[in-house]
Amino acid sequence: MSAHPATVRPHTGSSHGWGLVDARRKEELIRAIAAGRDTAGPLHAELDLTDRCNVACYFCNQQDTRTKLQIPLERVVELIDEMAEAGLASVRLSGGGDPLHHREILAVLDHFEARGVVLDNLTTNAVSLTPAVARRLVDQEAREVNVSLNTVDGADYRRMMQVKPAVFDRVLDNVRHLLAVRGERRLPIVTLQFLLDRHNAERALEMDDLTREIGADRIVLSAVQQIPDDRLAAADLLDAGDGERLLPVFTELYRRHPPGDSLDLELNLDVQGLGPMLAAARRRAGAAPASPFPIAPSFRAEDGGCFFAWYSTAITGNGNVYPCCQLIRPKGPVMGNVLEDGAAGVWHGERYARLRGEMREALLDGADRTLDPARFEILDPVCHTPGRCWLKTMYFQWDDAFYARLHEALEGARTNRARVRAARGAAAAVAGRLPWLAPAVDRLRDASRPLRVWLRHRLGLDLTEAA
Ligand code: SF4
Ligand code: SF4
Repeated sequence: MSAHPATVRPHTGSSHGWGLVDARRKEELIRAIAAGRDTAGPLHAELDLTDRCNVACYFCNQQDTRTKLQIPLERVVELIDEMAEAGLASVRLSGGGDPLHHREILAVLDHFEARGVVLDNLTTNAVSLTPAVARRLVDQEAREVNVSLNTVDGADYRRMMQVKPAVFDRVLDNVRHLLAVRGERRLPIVTLQFLLDRHNAERALEMDDLTREIGADRIVLSAVQQIPDDRLAAADLLDAGDGERLLPVFTELYRRHPPGDSLDLELNLDVQGLGPMLAAARRRAGAAPASPFPIAPSFRAEDGGCFFAWYSTAITGNGNVYPCCQLIRPKGPVMGNVLEDGAAGVWHGERYARLRGEMREALLDGADRTLDPARFEILDPVCHTPGRCWLKTMYFQWDDAFYARLHEALEGARTNRARVRAARGAAAAVAGRLPWLAPAVDRLRDASRPLRVWLRHRLGLDLTEAA
């Protein structure tokens, strides 16, 4: 890892695969972004192996799109082989349904190992975290296992996950077993995640107690958020009005986690309007833990646009591909289908080319960018609206060397784009004064398009914005 000493992330679990990308690959990525051309393939893939799940969380944002489908083992093997040939270094197994509910999960994990693809993150409810799975996760040095536990007792587990309370005890046994198999080894980092709503947020200290008692490495407390079609009752969701009631609880939580504490704490409550309460709690506690996502000195807001179209991809249980997990939703932008076109067919296809063009424009626009629907067909307002997407920079913003070099390359591309626009403006002005020249200029532009596209894709010479 090339990291500024002051900005190394405190915990070394999952990183959206970034911890596995070496300096050479980062440079390839930067050059491709600046030139607007493809990379050989994604370096990281979010893979929803199956839409099937064995619990029924009331807050599940996939409940309207969930099917009984799973990617058959032979297709998973083909997919991993194809992407590994093109440089895939890591995968994340998360949504759709529960990844461990895939009928052939052991064979899938074995194939990752055979192809040298690292399991960067597994997010699971842990109901099917069997001893055989635990053994593989430890032996393969999976980076992080994120267990969605959500509550501290069987009765509340039934309320949230809508299954028998006894399942809660089984999950705890499974997590304890994983930690016992890991023993003194460092990986996988084990995180317990709790989703807070109006009924359980006051139990945050009990969640902290349980996490310490089990011996996990991290605790993440996040707010339940509204799901598509406003299916959740507003009365169940936290909002700013809960701040006063929760302030003493979170002040005490911060006190329990002084800098350097052995249990990492991450709180994601800002989206539900509880940022001011957390700030007040930090002030009252006096000392707060360091952010798990520090920002490098070279990181500038103007370079903080998304570069996932060159770096990673998200594949669902029916084979559909999305730019990232945040955009997997009923009307989200589908980039293609890997079961029909193969991974390379989708990655080098028209939709990804369009997405790269849009992301590059947004990156070059820098901090001044505004979402103009006419310019952006695939990128979503969530990608542009400040504060709506944390994913695009959270795992990378600590990387001083990367953002210094990216800034240099983007500045070059910005200058180049400005020159091309100025030349176009001048040509348009001339054509306006000499209208009889316009048909010849149009013919020249059409005839030179393949050459300009070739120059941009092969040599990074940006003489066209029309490609
Ligand atoms: S465990 Fe995940 S996929 Fe399953 S119901 Fe809950 S939120 Fe949905
Ligand atoms: S900006 Fe965020 S939501 Fe949009 S594609 Fe990138 S990671 Fe996904």
